[in-house]
Amino acid sequence: MLSYFIWTIGCQMNKAESQQIAGYLDSAGYQAVNSFSNADLVVLNTCVVRQSAENKVLGTLGLLKGLKNKHSDLQILVTGCFVNSHTQELQKQFPHVDLLFKPGDYPELIAWGQKQGIPIEQRLLRYARNDTRGAPSPCAFIPIIQGCDNFCSYCIVPYRRGREVSRPLREIICAVEELVRQGIKAVTLLGQNVDSYGHDLPGYPDLADLLNALSSIDNLVRIRFLTNHPKDISPKLVDTIASLDKVCEHLELPVQAGDDDILRTMKRGYTVEQYRELVHTIRRKVPQISLSTDIIVGFPGETEEQFEHSLSLLKEMRFDVIHVAAYSPRPATVAWREYQDNIPSEVKRERLHKIEKLQAAIASEINSQLQDRQVEVLVEGRKNGKWFGRTRSNKLVFFEDAGEWQGQLARIQIENTSPWSLRGQIKI
Ligand code: SAM
Ligand code: SF4
Repeated sequence: MLSYFIWTIGCQMNKAESQQIAGYLDSAGYQAVNSFSNADLVVLNTCVVRQSAENKVLGTLGLLKGLKNKHSDLQILVTGCFVNSHTQELQKQFPHVDLLFKPGDYPELIAWGQKQGIPIEQRLLRYARNDTRGAPSPCAFIPIIQGCDNFCSYCIVPYRRGREVSRPLREIICAVEELVRQGIKAVTLLGQNVDSYGHDLPGYPDLADLLNALSSIDNLVRIRFLTNHPKDISPKLVDTIASLDKVCEHLELPVQAGDDDILRTMKRGYTVEQYRELVHTIRRKVPQISLSTDIIVGFPGETEEQFEHSLSLLKEMRFDVIHVAAYSPRPATVAWREYQDNIPSEVKRERLHKIEKLQAAIASEINSQLQDRQVEVLVEGRKNGKWFGRTRSNKLVFFEDAGEWQGQLARIQIENTSPWSLRGQIKI
């Protein structure tokens, strides 16, 4: 039996697409293994959002060159945002790679499979399959819109994933129904900007329509979606989150900066005041909402004062989770063409650490409010003898119990909190 290994870095979209490819290879009779060295076929699902990610991809491609020299029949497939439009040039640069295909370009993968005599179950590629290795997780990721039309000045994603293309509403509903039949209890709908969902479909269904339709699927207990764009999130969507029981009180709402001039140069399309208003409205309508954000430090020209504006916005907003990144110039983007990367790396690092420290204190305070309270946890698996899962607000919870909790909803009394996770006891 031939074996495969999929190496994945980057966003949830990449992880979902790797699950789809795994489903395809499983159905073709390949067996999953957990390292490059004992695989007959490897897939690199890549990210180049920052230079550090691209360096990892280049390092891994170098390692695979060595492996292919030893085992000439090793097959190497590369997908994800590393694959640009100049695949012929990339192919020349990396002759040891057998196939380069753009993210989500399954027709290309299928055509390659057909040439290799790999039996095709095209249907499977429409679903982000549940992981079939080990105990199955009750959660699945469903891409609902590919690409991005926003062209934020720092971001390479639109250049690599192309323009927005929504999946038809009916197709998503069928995918979720099938996953629920397989035992999935929670789905996360994915897109670079889920608020744009449907603008390119007949009849213009939107994300709120999709959430309403999915809510009526029996045995589906939780629905999440990411990522939202603050300039596009609609009042109708906020009302829908407030009204549908299955939609979790959890939003990823990247702010990126807390200074209007920086936001303008980033081409984000909103001001700090508009963002603040939006968060106030969401918190008023959905009081239990848990909010995450992304922020970039050291954007070209960011002064100490502008960085302080970001810090004070974070103090004021008190997010549950912050993903902070140091600005990394990305070829072809507007920021790369027009602005000098003039903030020294020590300053970027210092700013990044300041935000991490501030957030650890804020998250610690927010999570400590759950001390001695009961929460509902959807159990995803077991690690080091402990069950783990997430609350509706996406808090990670660990507990110990001899029972079988995989895929179950458990009531947990919280006994210990930290900025990153919670620990508790099962409550029958
Ligand atoms: N679509 C989402 C949004 O609107 O924020 C996020 C997608 S992006 C791939 C994920 C995160 O990577 C962004 O939120 C941003 O903080 C970070 N990022 C993107 N380009 C970056 C760059 N050139 N340097 C540093 N961080 C970057
Ligand atoms: Fe990148 Fe902006 Fe699109 Fe997010 S919305 S993927 S940051 S261009």
